[in-house]
Amino acid sequence: MSLAEQFLSNIPGSPLLQLRNLDQRYALLRQDTSSPPQVIHLSSETLGELDADVVICGGTLGILLAASLQQKGQKVILLERGTLRGRQQEWNVSRAELNVLLELDLLTTEELETAIVTEYNPARISFFQGHELFVKDILNIGVYPLDLLEKLKEKFLLFGGKILENTPFISALILSDGIKIIAGDYQLKSRLLVDAMGHFSPIVKQARRGTKPTGICLVVGTCAQGYPNNQTGDLLVTNTPILNQCQYFWEAFPAQDGRTTYLFTYVDAEPERFSLEFLTEEYLRLLPDYQQIDLDALNFQRFLCGFFPSYQNSPLQMPYSRILAVGDSAASQSPVSFGGFGAMLRHLQRLSNGIDEALKTDHLTQKDLALLQPYQPNLSVTWLFQKTMSVGLNQTVDPNQINHLMSTVFLSMEQLGEDVLKPFLQDVIGFSALTKILTAVPLQSVLPIVPQIGLLPLLDWLRHYLSLGLYNQLYLLGKNIETKPPFVEQYYWHRLLESWQYGSGSDYHQALGEK
Ligand SMILES: Cc1cc2nc3c(=O)[nH]c(=O)nc-3n(C[C@H](O)[C@H](O)[C@H](O)COP(=O)(O)OP(=O)(O)OC[C@H]3O[C@@H](n4cnc5c(N)ncnc54)[C@H](O)[C@@H]3O)c2cc1C
Repeated sequence: MSLAEQFLSNIPGSPLLQLRNLDQRYALLRQDTSSPPQVIHLSSETLGELDADVVICGGTLGILLAASLQQKGQKVILLERGTLRGRQQEWNVSRAELNVLLELDLLTTEELETAIVTEYNPARISFFQGHELFVKDILNIGVYPLDLLEKLKEKFLLFGGKILENTPFISALILSDGIKIIAGDYQLKSRLLVDAMGHFSPIVKQARRGTKPTGICLVVGTCAQGYPNNQTGDLLVTNTPILNQCQYFWEAFPAQDGRTTYLFTYVDAEPERFSLEFLTEEYLRLLPDYQQIDLDALNFQRFLCGFFPSYQNSPLQMPYSRILAVGDSAASQSPVSFGGFGAMLRHLQRLSNGIDEALKTDHLTQKDLALLQPYQPNLSVTWLFQKTMSVGLNQTVDPNQINHLMSTVFLSMEQLGEDVLKPFLQDVIGFSALTKILTAVPLQSVLPIVPQIGLLPLLDWLRHYLSLGLYNQLYLLGKNIETKPPFVEQYYWHRLLESWQYGSGSDYHQALGEK
């Protein structure tokens, strides 16, 4: 029996089965051969009477949008294949990101505070044989999904929304005046379908035509009791050089029932890459050194695992009218983060206002809806960061290259100050901060990674970096224009402004109430 098998057989539930099922999906994703399901069909017929303005498929993050749209007066039906229920394990976010739930009037301050179950400071960033620094107020809030989703569910029902649980989405037919959705035993007629079915949404598989992801983040972890020190967290820690053609990273958070520790790494989608079960072995082998504790001293509450495919073509613009992807299915978070809840919070205001406006003004064509998931240069520039943190299967690189680079970059960012460091740690990359980092990091630390990344990806990155500068300027100009230019429709003008704002990371300071 391997260490992972032995360990997982002692944890309640069936974590070994869960892990092996996930490994099977991970293996399938890395094969080229799987033909995507055909769940979206087109027809020129008309639909007639409607059941809803919006049908949202997938309840985890879907409920946030459902509650907000229903509150704005749209008629919303939320479909969930299982029971609409948040998971046991906290989501870690920064406090400012949660304000949107108050601004949209979805929760009261008291309701939000009861969903917040942990708060800690500071968090450590540290690299093997390299620099160590501490930051405050970043991803230091633990929200209890079970509680949060229950409250949002109550609100949604109170606003008049309808939830169909144990009702899986099966297929949809796009017609000239609406969309017919087949789900469980239902046939629902709606004006818009919002896909919130996560990374493995059948609609996304069809839309991406079975394309393999560009990168994958693998994560395994546990929540356990028995750690003598559980007052602080770790945002990014390494305690090894490159091993098995990848760099391992650690994250740790105080949790309401113990301490959560994650081991994660970035890999490509090659079939020869190791499994999540192997990563679990590595987690168990390296955890004692990382947390300076014996495994026997810990009382494990639960095992956690996942993998996050990321596509260079993100966020996903659906190739269909009347369908919009949100949350993980849209791949709207940065490829270096697995903070999909945080990313949804960041875009919630923009998405709910935009969808509401699209419905009110009947802008539901493919082109109209694509503007709700626009190109965002500040997301695209993060591709290079993922590349610098991963190694190709057949590449030979200095085992300490990633640690050395990360250590140097974080030292420079620390010296540049919180204005540069904090947004970066929350996946918000602005032009001015990025330019400061580029000029501060010594050239001799960057040059060795050029062969690791390749010249073409670097040139492509330069394009996104220049677009980031352009979007920044366009937003500065655009936000001061009091009335929209006469040659642009209101709906398009709003989307244009948002794409400049969010695409340049300018929403970050506004979320903090700054100018
Ligand atoms: C180990 C781990 C730790 C994480 N930690 C954090 C964190 O600290 N902070 C953070 O911000 N994020 C974190 N995340 C990410 C976060 O959990 C995800 O981004 C979030 O759950 C995405 O929600 P989603 O609704 O888009 O997709 P999913 O979570 O995949 O949910 C999809 C929903 O759609 C439903 N569904 C699927 N198929 C169908 C169908 N055919 N019909 C109807 N319904 C369907 C599913 O049942 C599910 O409810 C973590 C993720 C993992 C795995």
